[in-house]
Amino acid sequence: MPNFELVDSSFTGRLARPLLQEVVSEACDTTPIPESRRILRHGDRNPTRNTTMPKYKLDYIWLDGYTPVPNLRTKCCVKEYESFPALDDLPLWGFDGSSTEQASGDDSDCMLKPVAVYPDSINEHQALVMCEVVLPNGDPHPSNMRATILDDDGAWFGFEQEYFLTQDGLPIGFPKGGYPGPQGEYYCGVGFKNVGALGRKITEEHLWQCLYAGITHEGINAEVAKGQWEFQIFGKGSKKAADDVWVARFLLLRLCEQYGVDVDFHCKPLKGDWNGSGMHSNFSTTHMRETGGKEYFEALMGAFETHREEHIAVYGPDNDMRLTGLHETQSIDKFSYGIADRGASIRVPHAFVQNDYKGYLEDRRPNSQGDPYAIASRILQTIATVPT
Ligand code: ADP
Ligand code: MN
Ligand code: MN
Ligand code: MN
Repeated sequence: MPNFELVDSSFTGRLARPLLQEVVSEACDTTPIPESRRILRHGDRNPTRNTTMPKYKLDYIWLDGYTPVPNLRTKCCVKEYESFPALDDLPLWGFDGSSTEQASGDDSDCMLKPVAVYPDSINEHQALVMCEVVLPNGDPHPSNMRATILDDDGAWFGFEQEYFLTQDGLPIGFPKGGYPGPQGEYYCGVGFKNVGALGRKITEEHLWQCLYAGITHEGINAEVAKGQWEFQIFGKGSKKAADDVWVARFLLLRLCEQYGVDVDFHCKPLKGDWNGSGMHSNFSTTHMRETGGKEYFEALMGAFETHREEHIAVYGPDNDMRLTGLHETQSIDKFSYGIADRGASIRVPHAFVQNDYKGYLEDRRPNSQGDPYAIASRILQTIATVPT
C-alpha cells in the first residue's frame, strides 16, 4: 500500500491551494496525518522519509525582440527549494536569442534576469518568474524597455486592458462569413446572444488566476464590440504595475490555449462601426494625490500637450486607426482634456476637480498593444518636467 497518492495530470487547472495548504501545514505538524488525508503532489516533502526537498516548476517569462510589439515567451525549469522561492533565490538563466530576434546565430546567448516572482494557481509548487533580458555582461539588452524606466514607488497606475477573444481568426460570436447584430447590447452584456458561452468562463478564470498570483486585478467587463472584453490591473510603482500587466496578459494567453481561443490585442481588428481596443492608463503620483491644485494640473496638461508626439510614439502601433475622434476617442493629432469627457485625450474624473484637483487622471490614448513599461516610463518622464 503506498503511503501517498500522487495527484496526477488529471488535475483540471482549478485552484488547488486550499487543499494543498491544508496538507502541507499538516505535514509540518507533529501529529500523525490520517491515512485518508495523505495526498501529496509530485516533489512534495515526504514526511515519513524526510529526504526530498520539494521540487518547484519555475516558468521564466520574458519579452522577445519583435517590433513594434514584443511577444511573450516562456520556458520552464525545475529546482528544489525548502519553500516557495523568493526573488533572490532564483538564478539567472539563458536562452537562444537568435530565435527571438534578440541575437545573431553566431553569438546567440541572451540572459534572463528574474525581476518578479508570482505563485501560479495551477500548482502550489509552481512559480511565474518575470524576467528582464540582459546581455552576458549584465547590461540591459536593447529590447529591454523595463530597464529604461525611472521607478517611482509613489506612482500608481491602473491599466484598463481591452482585447478581443478570437477563434479561427474571428471574434467569438461572429458567424462565419458575416456579422453579428450591431454594437449596442454587448457592453456589460448578459446572456448567450450577447457574450457567447466562453467569454465569461475565460475572463473569470483569468481573474482568479491573477488574484492568486498576487496581481491586483480589479475587475472585468464585456466591451462594446462582440467578443471584446476588458480587465483592469492596478499597481503601486511603475515597474510593479507594468510587470503585473505583462503577467496578466501571459495568464490570459496561456488560459485561452485550453479553449482553442486566441487573444487579439490589436487596437482595431475590425473595420467599420466596431470599437477598437485601448489600454486607458490611469495614473497618479504622490504629489498629484496629496498636493495637486488647479495650477499644477494646468501645468501638467501643458507638458502633456508639449510632448504629445513622444507619448503617441509609445502608445501602441496603428493607433491612427483607433484614435479617430469617433468611438469615444480624441483624434491622434489633437490633445485635449475634459471633465468626464470620454472624447478627450485625458479624462479628468469628477472627483479630481471636487477634491481640489487632487487624485488620478486617465490617459485614454494608449492602445491595447501598448507596452506598459514604455507607457509608464513616458508618463513619468513628462510629469518630471513639471515643477512641483
Ligand atoms: P472607466 O472604464 O470608467 O474608465 P475603470 O473602472 O475601468 O474606469 O478603471 C479605472 C482605473 O483607475 C482602475 O484601473 C483603477 O485601478 C485606476 N485608479 C483608481 N485610483 C487610482 C489612482 N489613485 N491612481 C492611479 N490609478 C487609479
Ligand atoms: Mn474601464
Ligand atoms: Mn473599456
Ligand atoms: Mn477608462
